[in-house]
Amino acid sequence: MAKLRFTFGTMGSGKSTQALQIHHNLRARGLTTILMTQLDRAEGRVSSRLGVSAEAEVVEAATDLFDLVRQRAKSLGHLNAVICDEAQFYDAAQCEQLARVVDELGVDVYAFGLLTTFQGVMFPGSARMMELADMRTEIQVEARCWCGERATHNARFVDGVQVISGATVVVGDTGGASAAAEVSYDLLCRAHWMEGARAARGDQLELLGDDVARPGDHPDRSGPVEVDPEAVPTPLHATHTAGDNA
Ligand SMILES: [Zn+2]
Repeated sequence: MAKLRFTFGTMGSGKSTQALQIHHNLRARGLTTILMTQLDRAEGRVSSRLGVSAEAEVVEAATDLFDLVRQRAKSLGHLNAVICDEAQFYDAAQCEQLARVVDELGVDVYAFGLLTTFQGVMFPGSARMMELADMRTEIQVEARCWCGERATHNARFVDGVQVISGATVVVGDTGGASAAAEVSYDLLCRAHWMEGARAARGDQLELLGDDVARPGDHPDRSGPVEVDPEAVPTPLHATHTAGDNA
């Protein structure tokens, strides 16, 4: 029985690496797979920060994934699995099309995506995948907030200050329209994500007590921090703007 699998994690948790690994493993067993991505900087490829990449179909907002997979299955003669990177950007209808790929075509779907936006709410695509998937798996990486807690939340910073408003996807650090304000991302624990979010809303910061560590208190902030290369937060691979989709 084919299954719809959704694997989610924070930025830098190795989702693309896992997608590429599954793609490779299934092909090594002689199975036929296609790889799909969306809004990726490197057009037509899924790339891992570890340096691996593979050709991929770029899915547009209007792409009917059921029709696309059915056509590919026909032209390839047989199709065992579809592997989807950046699944958080799919709309609800596309997630439902992937469920039909599983149920009606008998093709396994492995979808990977971010769970929540920098605003702390689920991406619509991820929410629908959570509702529909047969199997849901969180990628556990040892990404840490500056305070040492497990980092679970994606935070966006503009000129070093956490923000909770703005477009879900912004132009990346390509030196273009966004050059005026430096946009960066980091991973935080929930408490520090929420602290920054409250500050961004202009709320008072009385909600965290004195026993909660602040960036200035952290003993390890003075020196370089050891990081797993996969855990290094980098901007979303976003190159599209509203007028850029033609
Ligand atoms: Zn923290």
